[in-house]
Amino acid sequence: MHSFIGAIDNGTTSSRFLIFDENGNLVIGHQLEYRQMYPHPGWVEQDPMEILASVVACIDGALRKFGLQGHHARSLKGIGITNQRETVVVWDRNTGKPLHNAIVWSDTRTKDIVSRLAESSEKGADAVKEVCGLPITTYFSAVKLRWLLENSPEVKEAHDNGNLMFGTVDSWLIYKLTGGAEDGIHVTDVTNASRTMLMDIKTLQWSDECLDFFGLNKDILPEIKPSSTLFGAINYEDLDEIKDVPIAGCLGDQHAALVGQHCFEAGEAKNTYGTGCFMLFNTGEEYIPSNNGLLTTVGYQFEGEPASYALEGSIAVAGSAVKWLRDNMGIIREADEINALAAAVPDNGGVVFVTAFSGLFAPYWRPDVRGCILGISQHTTKHHLARATLEATCFQTRAILDAMNADSGQALKTLRVDGGLSNSDVCMQLQANILGIDVSRPLMHESTALGAATAAGVHLGIGIWEGGFKAFVARTREAKEVLQVFKPEISEKDRDEQYDLWQKAIDKSLSW
Ligand code: ADP
Repeated sequence: MHSFIGAIDNGTTSSRFLIFDENGNLVIGHQLEYRQMYPHPGWVEQDPMEILASVVACIDGALRKFGLQGHHARSLKGIGITNQRETVVVWDRNTGKPLHNAIVWSDTRTKDIVSRLAESSEKGADAVKEVCGLPITTYFSAVKLRWLLENSPEVKEAHDNGNLMFGTVDSWLIYKLTGGAEDGIHVTDVTNASRTMLMDIKTLQWSDECLDFFGLNKDILPEIKPSSTLFGAINYEDLDEIKDVPIAGCLGDQHAALVGQHCFEAGEAKNTYGTGCFMLFNTGEEYIPSNNGLLTTVGYQFEGEPASYALEGSIAVAGSAVKWLRDNMGIIREADEINALAAAVPDNGGVVFVTAFSGLFAPYWRPDVRGCILGISQHTTKHHLARATLEATCFQTRAILDAMNADSGQALKTLRVDGGLSNSDVCMQLQANILGIDVSRPLMHESTALGAATAAGVHLGIGIWEGGFKAFVARTREAKEVLQVFKPEISEKDRDEQYDLWQKAIDKSLSW
């Protein structure tokens, strides 16, 4: 009987369960969108029970299709989890029930708390950056937890009574899927922990200094584990078919994509274009603090191996701007219609769209900024707007790449890409033009899920990809990958002119 590995992929807008075979080939998958709630401008919430239900329904759906192909659920030897990062879930230790909606990573309700915390330290927004690698912004989990303590009496009471459990979505899912309030395991992995602002980035342990700074009790936190280890086994009543299958991989989505794209060597980088867009640059075992507005994060850690670090450039709005054109403006009905619109004109007609719906992340870090569309004339059509929407992510990627080249002291030659919006050929060609380097896309686009499956599959306790992590890395170096490459097609002069216009638009929006 063949062996398979499953990957739970909880993205910001949808969940997926994908099944891979012994060679890492995608066999089958099932995907479901789930509800986003925007109760006030800048607020983004999800229901933790709906996240769980969507994951369970995806597992169920994928197993059904798997069965129709003649396979048996028992041939699933392990499961990896990858998830939207930073999003905060809080629940009651006794009942296992959520005490509040999940506060999503892109939520900016903590603006005032961020200013207050930054003002309380001589180092300003960098108050604990030396410890955790991150500046204080609305983005990371600790400030969202602080908001909950100050605004939800139930959460505050549970925190003070020792009944509160906190987790990013990985912790929440593992806790529920391994038995919930009765037997559930409260764990996370180093990559997810590295996004909370509560982990010491060098020791990979929870930091008392950070906990004190945010006024949080340590007993609310999950145990930190490597990204590839035996986390626990499935024990969930609606998933009897896969009862006892071990969860052996867990990584934040961007870190999983780094693994899925096989960026195992220092100097290799990938950019994932999903709801937001995130570039991770592997710096090996070396921890590099950024002087150019990037984040220092843990890339991944396989059991028995040292952690690999990464520099990260985060863009808050990428695919969500395409969704905005669809849902708020009604300019398109399906996401991929943006591509025909954008391709119908030779350029943006002078229109620049700064898509700062929830402030600007790297390298600007301005939660207060809002979006603006500049350069509109009588000539402007929805085609130009569509093109400018795609270009917004590409220009921000350029700003991040410049920062990365400066921080790492080496110029990236090829950018590996994945994620929903990377399906857009138009966008990837614009990206190559704007960066002036090759943009390379693997044929199998599900890099994030593949990364989670890899973390589980190479674990020696599962062992469907033989020889463990080192042998796996060696095999990826030998394998011939099929890639689609987008090459720059505009002159240096045009590239510089376009980027100058973007920088002008950024200056305008920063002063808005
Ligand atoms: P996440 O993991 O953050 O939920 P995905 O990687 O699934 O996101 O990407 C979803 C995003 O990609 C959506 O916002 C959607 O608008 C965009 N998208 C998906 N396919 C296309 C396409 N063919 N062209 C343009 N945008 C696309």
